[in-house]
Amino acid sequence: MTRSGRAIVLGGSWAGMLAAHVLARHLEAVTVVERDVLPRGPEHRRGLPQARHVHVLWSGGARIVEELLPGTAERLLAAGARRIGFHEDLVTLTSHGWQHRFPPRQYAIMCGRPLLDWIVRDRILADERITLREGTEAVELAGGAKRVTGVHVRGARDGARELLEADLVVDATGRGSRLKHWLAALGLPPLAEDVVDAGIAYATRTFRAPDGATAGFPAINVAADHRVRRPGRFGVVYPQEGGRWMVTLSCTRGGELPTRDEDFLPYARTLRDPIVADLVAGAEPLTPVFASHIGANRRLYPERAATWPDGLVVLGDSLAAFNPIYGHGMSAAARAARVLDERLAEPFGPGAARAAQERISAAADDPWIMATSKDIEFVHCRNHAEDPRLNGGAAVMRGFADMVATMAIRSADVSDAVTDVMSMTVPQSELGTARFMSLMQGARLLPELGEPPLRRHELALVNLDRRAVAGVRSVPR
Ligand SMILES: Cc1cc2nc3c(=O)[nH]c(=O)nc-3n(C[C@H](O)[C@H](O)[C@H](O)COP(=O)(O)OP(=O)(O)OC[C@H]3O[C@@H](n4cnc5c(N)ncnc54)[C@H](O)[C@@H]3O)c2cc1C
Repeated sequence: MTRSGRAIVLGGSWAGMLAAHVLARHLEAVTVVERDVLPRGPEHRRGLPQARHVHVLWSGGARIVEELLPGTAERLLAAGARRIGFHEDLVTLTSHGWQHRFPPRQYAIMCGRPLLDWIVRDRILADERITLREGTEAVELAGGAKRVTGVHVRGARDGARELLEADLVVDATGRGSRLKHWLAALGLPPLAEDVVDAGIAYATRTFRAPDGATAGFPAINVAADHRVRRPGRFGVVYPQEGGRWMVTLSCTRGGELPTRDEDFLPYARTLRDPIVADLVAGAEPLTPVFASHIGANRRLYPERAATWPDGLVVLGDSLAAFNPIYGHGMSAAARAARVLDERLAEPFGPGAARAAQERISAAADDPWIMATSKDIEFVHCRNHAEDPRLNGGAAVMRGFADMVATMAIRSADVSDAVTDVMSMTVPQSELGTARFMSLMQGARLLPELGEPPLRRHELALVNLDRRAVAGVRSVPR
């Protein structure tokens, strides 16, 4: 049942659109304020530079999107996205060695970010309760320290200012959010903030995949080993719609990422295994290299503020942004939308925005700790976090995580449990339960793999034969 009330969502990207969708399930009217003019199709735009790099939507997030917008996965797959089963459809060199290809329990959707956004956005904006104010920039909040009553906006073209009033304002303006400044202007003290910056940089190039390879060849992932005291270097080859591969090379601080086309392949050759380079060498480039340095983990703690104004909620990257290598940002935003939906089903009087914020912030904790506890292991990582788990307790946690990771690549049961967590399907605390400890104790370990577990027909598809691993087949449980 809907009740009277108007909400404004600042930012019309992934988090903003999902938030608008759940708000429209409960309120009379929702306005999305977006600085960009949004494309009418799966195209790039200025406010989403990260869309030029690989994006995967883990099953934990994909299931929430499916609950909120049934049929989304089907539309994505029909448009050429691929559903990658973990670990059957992914060949990955983890920091601890090659992962066996176990029958999948979790999955990730792989396609271009513009397609993902377009399919979701198109459906959400079809809702007549939702109005899009595009080409419009939020410049400051209206109201005071006790209550936010709306937002001052400015036309991106003509600069005309306007006050939009609302019962609830949701900040989803992403990593560049000016929320801290907006709160200061309302007379509120600064929010607590943690930053863990491993200096992640991405360089991406799109290639035409050999015929049949986007559907018949696994996704490839070569990770860095954080235990080696050198800057980390990573590379992935992920299938995209339209018979393309998106190849992203990335590094931690000091890894000297390529920015010129001619340096892309030589850099790929410096990864821990040459498979990415071998695939790139045989494929036709369709784009130049696109490089970015936008990967720090950054988290605000509004739930700790002595005063939090009624009528204001923050979610998505504005609240907590993670090192993108772990692929959790969109699933975390989907989680936040679901939490908001649940909270909106309850009475929403004074103090309700704070209660909602507390739950939304709690939902960001798993991706936060997964990313940061690993990132602090990389050389030159700048740890500006007060989170005690990233200071005193980190070494013990890392030792345990290394043991789990070593077993997960060789045991189907341990791999399933870890992938359940990585896909944001079950909470991270599951890996600390007695159930998981006994599962580890009883785990049957398969032999270590010395080569990527690629099958002969897969190698033939991409014209590689040197790596054929005789007899590698899906490993039964
Ligand atoms: C290189 C890279 C790779 C990534 N890979 C993955 C991945 O594989 N999987 C995954 O789940 N996540 C990934 N992420 C994270 C993912 O991109 C973000 O988590 C996700 O986009 C967050 O959505 P958002 O809506 O919070 O913010 P954004 O998507 O950044 O959107 C913010 C929106 O707000 C608008 N805006 C900004 N300021 C204003 C203003 N003042 N007024 C009005 N509008 C404004 C912008 O134009 C934009 O549309 C990656 C991120 C990066 C940087």
